[in-house]
Parts: sequence; C-alpha cells; structure tokens
Amino acid sequence: MLRLYTHASCLQHDPGSGHAESPARLKAVLHALDADRFAALDRVEAPRATREQLLRVHDAAHIDRVLGHVPDQGRHQLDPDTWLSPDSGEAGLRAAGAACAAVDAVMQGRAARAFCAVRPPGHHATRAVAMGFCLFNNVAVAAAHALEVHGLKRVAIADFDVHHGNGTQDIFQHDARVLFISSHQSPLYPETGFAHERGVGNIVNAPMPPGSGSAEFREVWDGELLPRMEAFRPQLVLVSAGFDAHRSDPLADLRLGTEDYAWITERLLGVARRHAEGRLVSSLEGGYDLAALAASVATHVAALMA
Ligand SMILES: [Zn+2]
Repeated sequence: MLRLYTHASCLQHDPGSGHAESPARLKAVLHALDADRFAALDRVEAPRATREQLLRVHDAAHIDRVLGHVPDQGRHQLDPDTWLSPDSGEAGLRAAGAACAAVDAVMQGRAARAFCAVRPPGHHATRAVAMGFCLFNNVAVAAAHALEVHGLKRVAIADFDVHHGNGTQDIFQHDARVLFISSHQSPLYPETGFAHERGVGNIVNAPMPPGSGSAEFREVWDGELLPRMEAFRPQLVLVSAGFDAHRSDPLADLRLGTEDYAWITERLLGVARRHAEGRLVSSLEGGYDLAALAASVATHVAALMA
C-alpha cells in the first residue's frame, strides 16, 4: 500500500508570478495522480510539523525567522530566490509534517511506502538558512524524526534532484547515523556537492557535467552510489525526489528521460526491500517543466506502488 500525503496549503504557497517554483507544479502533479491507475493510493492529509520536530534539524532562530516573516498580504523575500506569501508558513509546516507522518506510517506498518506531494521543497534549507525555494528541510526533519522517535540507527537519504542538496548535507555532515548520497549537475546552483565533501564518511556526492544523460546517470548510481547504500544497510530509505534532471527542465542541463525515474525508483526500492523491510518515504523536491514533472512523478509513484 502506497500512501500519498499532500495538503491544500501547499497549492497556496505563492512565490510570485513568473517564479519557477509555482503552485502550477503541484497542480500538475496532483492532476497526474488522479488517473485511474492511481486509484489505489491511500490519500492522507498532511499534518503540521511540530516545533519539536523542526528543532531537531533547524535553529530556533531559523524557525522564528521563517514563520515570523509570513506576510498578511503580498510577499516577503527571504533570499534572492525564496519568498513567503500569506500561506507559506502553513505550507512549510505541512510539507515537513507530511514527511514525519509518512515515516510514522511506514515504521508502524500502516503503509509500506509513502510519497509526499508537497511544496515548498526542502533540500536547500540548511540548519540556519532558508534558500533555493526551500523553507524547512522536509526530508532532513523526517530523518531526524526516524532516528529520535523510532530509534533507528541507520537512515539513508537518496537525492536525485539536479541540484545538490546542500541543506541536507549541512544538517547531517557530522552525523554518521545518516548516509546522504546525491547525484547532481555541477557546476550549478548552489555550487556545492563536490566529491571531496565527505562529511564523516557519510556523504557521497556524484557531480555530473552539464549534458550528462541516462547512461551517465545510471553509471553513477550503479557504480558508486547504490553500492554505498547497500554497504550502509539502511533501516529506512528517504528520497529527495526532484525531477529537474529531466531533459525538458528549464533550470538545468542534464538529459534524463521519464523512464530514468522508473529505473532509479526500482533501484532504491530494491535497497529498501533488502535492508529496510521495504520502508521508503519519498518527498517532492524540484522539477520545473510541468509536463515532464507530471509524467516523471507518475512514473515514480507507479514504480513505488509495484
Ligand atoms: Zn532542483
């Protein structure tokens, strides 16, 4: 059984007209997941993350800065790319809360796996800074929740968004209980994620040059990233599922096709089945071509339902 977490406020968070991280993204995703083949999805409304959950990975000052600047009307700019609208605080809390609830559901056996169709995304948010469209680091909050509440000793985070998950790396680079593995384009925003950034041996970065496609992507995962995950024997697999490495995406220059997202999803599911009793929670990150995003998420979710 695959659970789908989302919340109406995630459609209301509005960084402004012309902004790539638009409400239309989630609208396209949810429309794709309305198709008949997804009728078996167990649809659940995402709860709010609690302050206690957020404090495991974010400074109190960061939480207060984000929630304290949510405007009554109009918009507030947190960084060059990151804006708050009146619904952004609620959306940020629901996006992080979705991932925590999804972890609870798979750990308690109420669901085998879960996909969180949420925005704002999370993987650029560091312990102290909102950036790159991200307010709270949804997947990091979920990993910390799994460690603290469910007593796990090894949680793997796989990030195939085209951008490096600098926030997730920042949060866990000194915590060997979390393995963070990422493929991403380099050079590209946020200009981190080099192979020499290894944390305490728990960070594995695979930067890929612009123009890389399916063959290079599969080689990086099969040759380096997946063997590291296997060796780590994660008790839970979390996925920062960004779909902006698609060849149609306007923000980057990798050349993946929709079928590559079925491939990576099946591979990650294989790791989860061998080591984590199949437990996998995936959360939406980037993906900015609406048609490619919708098709790629549908492929990802269909593979998770298998
Ligand atoms: Zn991205």
